[in-house]
Amino acid sequence: MPPDIISVTFLGTAAGRPSTTRNVSSLVVKLDSKLWVFDAGEGTQHQMMQPDCRLAMGRVARIFVTHMHADHVNGLPGLLCTISTGEGSVLPGQEDPRIGDSLGTPPTEIYGPSGLRLFLRTCLGLTQSILSRPYVVHELLFADEPEEVGELHPSERRGRSIRPDGDGYWRDFVGEEEGGGISVSAGPIQHTIRCLGYLLTESPRSLPIQPKLYIPHLKSPTNAAALAVEGVKNPLSILSRLQTSREPVTLADGTVLRPPELDPHGGRRVMILGDTFDARAMVALARPPGTSDLREGGEVDLVVHEATNAYLPTLDDSQAPGKQRDGAPITEESVRLLAREHGHSTPRVAGEFARLAGARQLVLNHLSVKYPDPEAPGARGASSESRDKWGAMLREIERQAEEALLGGEARGEGEEQRVRAARDFMEVEVARRDKRGGKKARVQ
Ligand SMILES: [Zn+2]
Ligand SMILES: [Zn+2]
Repeated sequence: MPPDIISVTFLGTAAGRPSTTRNVSSLVVKLDSKLWVFDAGEGTQHQMMQPDCRLAMGRVARIFVTHMHADHVNGLPGLLCTISTGEGSVLPGQEDPRIGDSLGTPPTEIYGPSGLRLFLRTCLGLTQSILSRPYVVHELLFADEPEEVGELHPSERRGRSIRPDGDGYWRDFVGEEEGGGISVSAGPIQHTIRCLGYLLTESPRSLPIQPKLYIPHLKSPTNAAALAVEGVKNPLSILSRLQTSREPVTLADGTVLRPPELDPHGGRRVMILGDTFDARAMVALARPPGTSDLREGGEVDLVVHEATNAYLPTLDDSQAPGKQRDGAPITEESVRLLAREHGHSTPRVAGEFARLAGARQLVLNHLSVKYPDPEAPGARGASSESRDKWGAMLREIERQAEEALLGGEARGEGEEQRVRAARDFMEVEVARRDKRGGKKARVQ
């Protein structure tokens, strides 16, 4: 069954290095009580222990990595040690009892690019870390990358080396059953090094069963007697079988009971992107087979896209009118090009992408140190003028991205804001599609 709650909590929203108001990249997708972590910059485990964070570290079931840059992976060894009690060691020559304890424990499943397996093996190996809960790394390899076949760390299990399809996508490498009603695919996105974007797709749920359509057939003497012979004591138990197996059931009198229809709204879709200046390859992944209009069922409920740099001439003194860089005036276009040279995006690039992908909501993360969070505890020492300016910068960043998402138009009167600049510990709930009218997306 797909989860009831899908929400995204941002643990780190800074680009490159931490600041007093933002930590480096990490976010957590909550699927009911299960947690899937996306990227783990340094200090991710400390963020999870903050009072503002209501996520229990022990619930981390899967970890996905977008790319191997330090600000996205340096927190991974520590997080893994803590969730798997990897501290402590034994004297040379002694057998570590934790190796034996971990046999039979299901491993933490980790997915990411080439190099991730060796990175973890080296960090955990050199620090003598033995985990009582083992781990496994499944590498999403590009067609030209070799498979990593080195010796395993004692706490490591042999992972899969997953190759892309002929068109370059890693489709459903976590299947819907394995993922508890959520399948995961990945695609290549443009950055300074190889980088991945992830798409989470919820399986459509079945519409509520209408017992009155089924009960008379199930309770008819002929059918009930035949079911009893088959060992089905309570004929009404067929109702739950129809919902879970979704296979039709033929009764003794020839009546065929069909499972209830699937919800025509489809399942929720969440796209989480690593650092990028061009993520357009993800659009084809978001488009279900046979869907031409993205707004009809193919839409993405939430896109998380970076917006490292922005053009804010009235708010950023270094971009004030008359300022130059390399002898040329600073313009929105020059900021966009410079961001691109460093593998990054502006709010408008993110908004344009979100429009192409058919996003309902867009959250911007990986923000430059120039854009602190005025509401973070670390901003308390700053003057109110500074905090007002930071708030204005973030609102302008959101406005620029939203203008691009809406195709150059302003938001209509009374329409909900569709773009947010992320802050650490912000939680965005993705409303169930069949409950959208009643239960609005919630941002904290
Ligand atoms: Zn980064
Ligand atoms: Zn990067």
